[in-house]
Amino acid sequence: MKSAKEIWEAALGELQLQVNKPNYDTWLKDTTGLSYRDDIFVIGVPNVFAAEWLKNRLYSLIKRTVSSITGKATHVEFEIHAPNQGAPMPPTYADGGTSAKLREPVKTAKLNPKYTFDTFIAGESNRLAYAAALEVSEEPGQRYNPLFIYGDTGTGKTHLLHAIGNAVKAKGLQIILTSAEQFTSQFVVAIKNNSIDDFQLRFRSADVLLIDDIQFLSGKVQTQECLVHIFNDLYDDNCQIVFTGDQPPRTITSLAKNLRSRLEWGLVADISPPDMETRLAILKAISNHLNMSIPTEVLHFLATQFQHNVRQLQGALNRVATYAKLSGSRLDVQLAKEALSDITAKDNRRDIMPSPKLIIDTVASYYGVNPETLVSKQRDKKTNLARQVAMYLLRDQNHCSLAEIGRILGNRDHTTILHGYEKIAAEIEVNPQLNESIKEIKQSLGSRKGENPRGRLWKNRLK
Ligand code: ADP
Ligand code: MG
Repeated sequence: MKSAKEIWEAALGELQLQVNKPNYDTWLKDTTGLSYRDDIFVIGVPNVFAAEWLKNRLYSLIKRTVSSITGKATHVEFEIHAPNQGAPMPPTYADGGTSAKLREPVKTAKLNPKYTFDTFIAGESNRLAYAAALEVSEEPGQRYNPLFIYGDTGTGKTHLLHAIGNAVKAKGLQIILTSAEQFTSQFVVAIKNNSIDDFQLRFRSADVLLIDDIQFLSGKVQTQECLVHIFNDLYDDNCQIVFTGDQPPRTITSLAKNLRSRLEWGLVADISPPDMETRLAILKAISNHLNMSIPTEVLHFLATQFQHNVRQLQGALNRVATYAKLSGSRLDVQLAKEALSDITAKDNRRDIMPSPKLIIDTVASYYGVNPETLVSKQRDKKTNLARQVAMYLLRDQNHCSLAEIGRILGNRDHTTILHGYEKIAAEIEVNPQLNESIKEIKQSLGSRKGENPRGRLWKNRLK
């Protein structure tokens, strides 16, 4: 019988033909066949990102390929395994800048020196994005290229982007930091001056290109085309490119397909709104920074009032601290309430999110299934669809982390949740009926906060 190593080499040969080159190079090239026993084939992968990516995106292809080589149905597992690396590859910038790159500067945004990895609080909600950003800054251009970080406003995307910028700049690398808005206005000027070629060329001076808020390029066809050119140049040169956006590339449908697909070539990492623990850690870090000792109950109060946006959380703490200082009163929850009365009242009116329970009950009722079956192991077609819609909406509407959603839906693994979410997100694009269903459920959620969801009947959408 062939060894695991031989089987995997044969499998890689096949996979190389079926997977596009960027994906093959990023995710498969450094994997190894570790063992093959009792119809279980274990693949060694260099890190947790590769394991997650391969499990989510290529599992069935890999399983099919390995099974066809072993000649029987083979189960596939992934194990983190640091490969025996030979001498490390020299980084692309090892030429000390003597390459053919043009060194004319392009106008770039200023790096905020306060946005570093040291000042970023890592937690469950931003774990993947944080770790990926850190890796990218350690080995720019070598690992996840491009890196795409997405999340809601105030969740720390810009902070991480600048943290990468600050870290690679400290190594003496040339960075270009820009926002999609700034990029667009510079592009417009270049068009007016008839100097598009020059504009594009100037980006070649970058070792690392950082572009914030890519969603602002929506609908701007020419600007996107120009960015694709720049992307191709830099990518071929192994320069690191990092984007941030407010949603994953595949759902920014107003971006051209060729740009969207490039945004997905490397690693797409999301940041959810911070969980309670992270919110508290952030508040503690700020109070340390302010040199103030703020009672734990006050921190808890703030962390409960401002759940989705770190910027608001910071603003609230600053306001409370200032209020206490100016009034000379003791800082307690009562004082915090007074200091924030106008914001919290407004926020509560505008911003109450449907609870996970309401989402599950509403989805179950829409599809005519019992809410308990959604958290059970039952796997018939109707339950599966309803469950995946619940995964999607819990993520979309309630900003739960994947792990939290897994817990809520009967202790399911976070990769299962991600799979469900992505499946529905992709399906909505091509299936108008599902799209309509999701809209109806969302509308219902909007009008039913505070109402008993079981009191209402749905027409069952599934036969
Ligand atoms: P976004 O770009 O996602 O809208 P920002 O990166 O601008 O959010 O973050 C808003 C503010 O919150 C910034 O001051 C940033 O430093 C802070 N912030 C966000 N997340 C964190 C975190 N995990 N740790 C520390 N500060 C954070
Ligand atoms: Mg931002």
